[in-house]
Amino acid sequence: MKRIPSPATIAVSAGRPPHEPDEPLNVPMSFASTYVQGGGAVYGRFTNPTWEALEDAVGQLEGGIAVAYGSGLAAVSAALDPVPVGGTVVAPLGSYSGTLAMLRTMQARGRVGEVRLVDPADTAAVTAALPGADLLWIESPTNPLLAVADLPAVVAAARAAGVTTVADATFTTPLVLRPLDIGFDVVVHSGTKYFSGHSDALLGVLVSRDEARVDAARAVRTTYGAVPGTAEAWLVLRGLRTLHLRVERGQANAAELAVRLEGHPALDRVRYPGLASDPGHKRAAEQMQGFGSIVCIDVRGGAAAAERLVAACELWTPATSLGGVESTLERRRRHSGESLDVPEGLVRLSVGVEDVEDLWADLSAALEA
Ligand SMILES: *Cc1c(COP(=O)(O)O)cnc(C)c1O
Repeated sequence: MKRIPSPATIAVSAGRPPHEPDEPLNVPMSFASTYVQGGGAVYGRFTNPTWEALEDAVGQLEGGIAVAYGSGLAAVSAALDPVPVGGTVVAPLGSYSGTLAMLRTMQARGRVGEVRLVDPADTAAVTAALPGADLLWIESPTNPLLAVADLPAVVAAARAAGVTTVADATFTTPLVLRPLDIGFDVVVHSGTKYFSGHSDALLGVLVSRDEARVDAARAVRTTYGAVPGTAEAWLVLRGLRTLHLRVERGQANAAELAVRLEGHPALDRVRYPGLASDPGHKRAAEQMQGFGSIVCIDVRGGAAAAERLVAACELWTPATSLGGVESTLERRRRHSGESLDVPEGLVRLSVGVEDVEDLWADLSAALEA
């Protein structure tokens, strides 16, 4: 029997031209706004060979059919599009601020009738919010509180209630978690983060196994026009080639730093599902291949102390976003749109692939300062 390639092999080999003489090993950047008529491509807003190569690779990694967008939020909005006018969405408290802002905007305009915010780690609360809802949105771990949901349980509850399930799996990547295998209807990613991995491109992806959902998601892209740039699609595919290496190293670094940070006198709390003391640890160990490379710390002394820590770092870059090879950190509540459930002194660390001793030396010196 032919061996099914592992995700690491798919990341390297999927979305390539065929092994034919003189084919390039990599799909080129195909810049085209229009195509000679008579074929299926037609126009540059409908499709593009560089997007298709990226979609092929992400689709294989997730075990579904992928559609690429111009940003993660464009993929989020495509995933929310099937909610009927005036419908109800159940979403996690303290999750990605951009998604919550979109839901609030949709609600203010009457596009969505009700948004029920629940603690995703509280399965009973999620289940109780489902009757009459149209869509359950899940992040696990959430950005930035790192709450871990019981994914099989919430999917089963949603299915029983006839509610569509969407997972934003940006934090985990398909190497750590494959939501479609657990039964989610749709997965979305900010490809800007780990897929790209180099902080140089904005892109989003939606993946599903259900062809009708994929067709609808592609139609949203064509109709509303949130298409990815050719160069961005190429950069993200380039990034995917090393996804497994970056995720492995980032997770190892994050795990080591979380252990060293735990119990530090300058911190009230370290949030990382890889720590045995973390409330999400047991679930994460069952559901995930590793614990991701985001660590959040609640700095003692609140906003001012957290800002001092960020400013005192030299190697760590003070910046928003995450998932790059370079380690970054920021106090999340500096953004006015961040959820009020996020503590004022919470600093989110996106742990990169540098030498962990250098990362620790810089961070521990900043914590002493
Ligand atoms: C960054 C992010 C997004 C939005 O992606 P963009 O590419 O910035 O539009 C969505 N979900 C999560 C979890 C994110 O971290």
